[in-house]
Amino acid sequence: MSTLNTLVEALADGSVEVVDLSQPLSEETPILQLPPPFANTPGWKLHEISRFDERGPGWYWNWFEGGEHVGTHFDAPIHWITGRDGEDVTRVPPRRLIGPAVVIDKSAEAADDPDFLLTVDDIHAFEREHGPLPRDGWLLYRTGWDARAHDQAAFLNANETGPHTPGIETATARWLAEESPIVGLGVETVGTDAGIAHGFNPAFPCHSYMLGAGKYGLTQLANLAQLPPTGSVLVVAPLKIVNGSGSPARVLALVPGR
Ligand code: MN
Repeated sequence: MSTLNTLVEALADGSVEVVDLSQPLSEETPILQLPPPFANTPGWKLHEISRFDERGPGWYWNWFEGGEHVGTHFDAPIHWITGRDGEDVTRVPPRRLIGPAVVIDKSAEAADDPDFLLTVDDIHAFEREHGPLPRDGWLLYRTGWDARAHDQAAFLNANETGPHTPGIETATARWLAEESPIVGLGVETVGTDAGIAHGFNPAFPCHSYMLGAGKYGLTQLANLAQLPPTGSVLVVAPLKIVNGSGSPARVLALVPGR
């Protein structure tokens, strides 16, 4: 039997399950808030065209507006100045949008300290237990922040000193970009960088190093708690937006069934 037939059978008998890692996309979806003088993204909005009425008696449909970087979304290299000559969303090879995923869980640490930063030592400790990060795979960074995704204020967790949300250290960002075998980093927060990363050197190091290295970001993921530390396969599906710097994405994981 072919590998794909085996996969289809495994999906049918439940020995492989599909976990939806995407947050719902609506007007309530939290969005990034940059301080002045920077421009901000609009959120997501649906506009009804017709709904079984005089505008269209037999059909319901909408049009939508919203930023590329709203909700569960994909960051393409061209999003950042360090990757400005890199891929837009349409140029990302589809092969790189499907790959193995590992999950590092720092939700307990982030609950104690919303400014918690993942270190290279944390990743090496994970590797000693679970094996090396996967080549052409994804590192998914669980912080428990998905539980706040229904509430803009709780999600951004800002006070007079700015947002306080977990992220990764500058050295970790550089290591992931330049030395690790992964193609991308996925997080539960509004961006791949920590809330306080505007003050790092370079500012927003995860964006700067990862996108500069031609790698990718995924944000506002859900349901990472349902994934094993290793052994899942990620399927990332951003819209094919011409010249797009990113896109809302449906992100699915194939996991071993119970
Ligand atoms: Mn983004």
